[in-house]
Amino acid sequence: MKVLVSGGAGYIGSHVVRQLQRCGHEPVVLDNLSKGHRQAVRDVALVETDLRDKDGLARCFAEYRVDAVMHFAARSRVGESMQIPYDYYENNVVGSLNLVKAAMDAGVDKFIFSSTAAVYGEPEEVPIPETAPKAPLNVYGKTKLMIENMLEDFSNIYGLRYKALRYFNAAGADAEGDIGEDHTPETHLVPIIFQYVNGRRDRLCVFGDDYDTPDGTCIRDYVHVTDLADAHLLALEDLARGGESCAYNLGSESGYSVLEIIRAASEVVGRKIDYAIAPRRPGDPAKLVASSTKIKEVLGWQPRFGIRDILASAWRFHKAHPDGYR
Ligand code: UDP
Repeated sequence: MKVLVSGGAGYIGSHVVRQLQRCGHEPVVLDNLSKGHRQAVRDVALVETDLRDKDGLARCFAEYRVDAVMHFAARSRVGESMQIPYDYYENNVVGSLNLVKAAMDAGVDKFIFSSTAAVYGEPEEVPIPETAPKAPLNVYGKTKLMIENMLEDFSNIYGLRYKALRYFNAAGADAEGDIGEDHTPETHLVPIIFQYVNGRRDRLCVFGDDYDTPDGTCIRDYVHVTDLADAHLLALEDLARGGESCAYNLGSESGYSVLEIIRAASEVVGRKIDYAIAPRRPGDPAKLVASSTKIKEVLGWQPRFGIRDILASAWRFHKAHPDGYR
């Protein structure tokens, strides 16, 4: 299938593009390159357009005549979303609205949306099922939930067909070692650990050791970005077969604390990694672990990589690219 991948020059988008190519699909990347990297898109058509540019979107759909859309382009920093909410509502909500409208106008009815565990907020039960209450704690999570609601309404009323994939903690890098995670500034634990190991940071801080967890540090569900990419392919195939519009959690169903991740990373790099305990980061829930039973049962998704593979693949990328794509 020919698939328009918005945000295909970003971290998760570029890994999905790679997997689409491997499976014989034809991706076309749409990215404004504000955060994405041209180097992450090697031999794929790249349309440099902003989601706020309705005419640009219409031209893109007219030129490429795609069968489906995978939508990753978004502002995605939780802390920043609480400082500049307008940018988040405009880029994420208005941008998604424009993209969906352009897709529907062009007769494209298959839409895969990159959502997040942040739609749940502080969970009442762990592992978190898809049916758990949606109570996002920050603007970022609220924008993603608004887009999910919009897709549900468009599906019911206009016949759009969609899958919303709620990621837990994406990490790791492609096996070829040439694409990986590179955000500026970086806020995610795994790349920060390896930046510290590479001497690109003065210190590694653990945000809070007084949570209600066995070692006092936050527990998260880390899932390999290539496993996430596989799930997108399964979701696409399911939509093509007439599968239902719905949301799925994407996690490994096992949680690791911040200290466990640092210890596992030490084993991967072969030396001790020092850290300092710092205050809690506002808005961090103690424990987020997915129930991914639904996508396993309905689409047959099975994550292939464990935490060691995740960290080893991330380290391979960071060792070869200590300054990211620069
Ligand atoms: N974290 C940390 N130090 C850092 C970055 C993150 O202790 O420099 C913690 C953070 O508080 C959270 C976990 O690592 O408990 C994962 O954070 P990340 O930002 O990678 O993902 P999030 O769970 O916020 O989506």
